[in-house]
Amino acid sequence: MASRHISLFLYFVLTILLSFGNAAEQQQPLQAVDATPKKVAIIGAGAGGSFTAYQLRKLADEAGIPVKITVYERESYVGGRSTTVNVFGDPAYPIELGASIFVQVNYNLVNASRDLGLTVRSADYARPQEADESIGIWDGSQFVFSLKNTYKWWNLGRLFWRYGLAPLRTQNLVKKIVGQFLRLYEEPLFPFNSLSGAAIAAELLNATASSGAAFLHANDVGSLFAREIIQASTRVNYGQNLQLIHGLESVVCMATDGAVSIEGGNWRIFDAALSASHAHVNVNTTVTGIIRNSDGTMQVSSKLNAASTSEKTFDEVVVAGPLQYSGISISPSLDHTPDEIPYVNLHVTLFSSPHRIAPQYFGLDLNARAPETILTTLPEDFNPENKADVGPSGFWSISTLRTVDHPTVNSEETEQHYVYKIFSPERPTAEFIAGILGLEKDYVSSNATIGDLSKNDVSWCHEKLWNPYPVLYPRVTFEDTLLAPGVWYTGGIESFISTMETSALMGRNVATLMFQSWQKDVRVNDGAATEKFPKNESLYQLPHHLFRDIFDPVNTRPIPYKCMLTH
Ligand SMILES: Cc1cc2nc3c(=O)[nH]c(=O)nc-3n(C[C@H](O)[C@H](O)[C@H](O)COP(=O)(O)OP(=O)(O)OC[C@H]3O[C@@H](n4cnc5c(N)ncnc54)[C@H](O)[C@@H]3O)c2cc1C
Repeated sequence: MASRHISLFLYFVLTILLSFGNAAEQQQPLQAVDATPKKVAIIGAGAGGSFTAYQLRKLADEAGIPVKITVYERESYVGGRSTTVNVFGDPAYPIELGASIFVQVNYNLVNASRDLGLTVRSADYARPQEADESIGIWDGSQFVFSLKNTYKWWNLGRLFWRYGLAPLRTQNLVKKIVGQFLRLYEEPLFPFNSLSGAAIAAELLNATASSGAAFLHANDVGSLFAREIIQASTRVNYGQNLQLIHGLESVVCMATDGAVSIEGGNWRIFDAALSASHAHVNVNTTVTGIIRNSDGTMQVSSKLNAASTSEKTFDEVVVAGPLQYSGISISPSLDHTPDEIPYVNLHVTLFSSPHRIAPQYFGLDLNARAPETILTTLPEDFNPENKADVGPSGFWSISTLRTVDHPTVNSEETEQHYVYKIFSPERPTAEFIAGILGLEKDYVSSNATIGDLSKNDVSWCHEKLWNPYPVLYPRVTFEDTLLAPGVWYTGGIESFISTMETSALMGRNVATLMFQSWQKDVRVNDGAATEKFPKNESLYQLPHHLFRDIFDPVNTRPIPYKCMLTH
């Protein structure tokens, strides 16, 4: 510790002396050493890409370094996996198709939302709250636990009665792990070249190295609470059971304090961040290749709407999304190409209906109301065929998001419809949808899908198959931030924690490292330093056997289904 302080002290003294030296020799500020703007290409306009641009602009402007930021985005919109669709195509009813919530400790998103003037709302502010129970946990044959809408003390009492001290132990564990994770946000860990190294320094490797089930057991969290409550959370958040997902992500799933979203859609944070960065944003533009020139610059080839290829030269390139789904060829090839890892296949089905969730589908009395959010878990005696098995429920979650006004035929009046979201590993059949809405099943054929249901029962729908997050196997190494000189990567953080916030953190991290490398460059020009980049060393060899092949590892990129029925 003492030697770190001494070396930090020496560093500051040297930096000050060097800048005085410069000033004395040249009588000009640091930025004037090279007034040619740094040209930076960012591939991807999601959380990672937009926060790279946002942070880079801040740092460069503060230091007076001219920078030109160009963002390439192959989709027609900004936000990546954070995007909305409009119920009935009506902009008054946007709903999240991808990332829907963030929490109070997500400081990058919380601070940016405040600084960029966005309106933050409680995540479930629009939920109708008509049922007694807000959340029920279904194991395929019964509700094993439910939370009442209003009775906080009743909920707490039931939790402790059923699970003993496990909720308290979990809360303490969450607090501890979140505290350790937040060390990544500050010096001396931030910015980090090696995520593996930062994870070791933050003492988080024992959490990522074991399954959620093993990690919770090691921390004295009772198995009933783990299976019924924590697993319901890992399933809705990551489509994964506790035997599969690693301990860190399992615990993070329980850090739900102050769950919020942005009015109009979370993508607005990334849109606003890009505007603030003054980046030139090219949507509908796919980057196809990066050529690393011998002078250290990069030639980026891109296609606008699959038209002819155009090429531009940059000083730095940031790949801000999973490289394995980018389709970018890099030449000469990287010393280490990030490993392809399996991603989850998640079917998201959004639809509106005049019907409430049918209590009888869940074995409740016909006059009862089903919980508005239904999470799922595995029953106690269930022997999964593999660790990814969804089990007898067949789906991960069903949420009632809000109500909307649906115009009625031949009338000025409107009818109240409910908007639902289903997460499932397979595309839901019409029979399943009919079942949960309590409809007669006779009129649906066995291979029918939601679009085949009557418009009187399903007034609007939107389906999408996503690869939303990796299969979060236990692991101890993570991809580095610098893939080659000048080629940066934000996607490595996804197998550590996969959220909008962590991608934003990685964007900020990459921007800060890049900026620091420019400052080193200036010193290199002055002959005061010899190395532009600290060497990125993997601290452990990647244990490839950890990536067992339970999902097809050669996944395609997210394919939107054609909407079967959009009115
Ligand atoms: C259904 C769903 C629910 C989720 N729920 C939550 C949640 O509640 N909370 C949460 O925090 N997170 C959630 N997530 C995860 C979250 O969305 C992601 O972790 C985060 O948005 C990833 O951001 P990113 O910038 O790293 O990647 P992305 O958002 O994937 O952005 C990468 C971008 O790069 C673009 N791109 C790729 N290749 C090219 C190319 N060659 N040329 C040009 N552009 C290219 C892509 O089109 C994409 O827009 C959810 C995700 C999904 C899908």
